Amino acid sequence: MPMKECEYCKADTGGAPICSRCADRQESHRRALEVDKRVRLALVQDLVDSHARAARKEIVKAHWRLNNFLNRGIVPDDLKQGGPN
Ligand SMILES: [Zn+2]
Repeated sequence: MPMKECEYCKADTGGAPICSRCADRQESHRRALEVDKRVRLALVQDLVDSHARAARKEIVKAHWRLNNFLNRGIVPDDLKQGGPN
């Protein structure tokens, strides 16, 4: 026996499983979810990237500080003890 009612609002659809109004609503809901998912993924990716960038910056800085000390004896300000001499 074929369905005659929309499975969501029970409107008479003349045999289709869903009426056009509910189909539109389903479609816009699906699109909203897709946008939500896409934005969420982009934001998470931004976060991951920013961490990677920050980490890279810290590594470069640490190398630079070490090299300056080893090659030129420059002590970074934050590691100087007892203030300026
Ligand atoms: Zn419907």
